[in-house]
Amino acid sequence: MPYELPELPYAYDALEPTIDEQTMRIHHGKHHQAYVDNLNKAIEGTEWDGKPLEQVLANLSSLPEDKQAAVRNNGGGHANHSLFWQIMKPGGGGDPSGSLAQAIGDTFGDADQLKAAVNDAGVKRFGSGWSWLVWDGSGLAVYSLPNQDSPLLQSDVPLLGIDVWEHAYYLRYQNRRPDYLGAWWDVVNWDEVGRRFDAARG
Ligand code: MN
Repeated sequence: MPYELPELPYAYDALEPTIDEQTMRIHHGKHHQAYVDNLNKAIEGTEWDGKPLEQVLANLSSLPEDKQAAVRNNGGGHANHSLFWQIMKPGGGGDPSGSLAQAIGDTFGDADQLKAAVNDAGVKRFGSGWSWLVWDGSGLAVYSLPNQDSPLLQSDVPLLGIDVWEHAYYLRYQNRRPDYLGAWWDVVNWDEVGRRFDAARG
């Protein structure tokens, strides 16, 4: 069973003005679709074909050596974008609640300090990549990874990730990545991030 592009859970223009409609159309319909297609090509015929992507990425070194780079890049791209669409929503923003809010307070001080840490990691990422909030098995952590590398590669659970590839923001923000990162929190879906946190923590 090949991997498939998930439907966007809202309309392409639903995240305006934070993220513009054309960026969403190209990002979801072209970039994400290409990661899915190239993942399917790379993994076809291996014993990992059709396995849950989390398992594939956590066991990358078990794949045939000549497939590893393509699965790392395109499997990571599929996993990262599938999460990205879910952790945004129209009319998002505000503050986290429940156990996630508690953990953010304990780890970072408050939500504003968490946002500052995520934005700082995203601004400092040279070239393309993502800024991540993860559950590392014992607590929350913020870091950036290059390209489409997923936190799943190092067995961390991604809770929130901001795509800082230029394709994610260039039409509206051009070279102003810090402005994009600052505005992005207006569409964050804290309920979904909290759900992922509770599931990861068990
Ligand atoms: Mn992207």
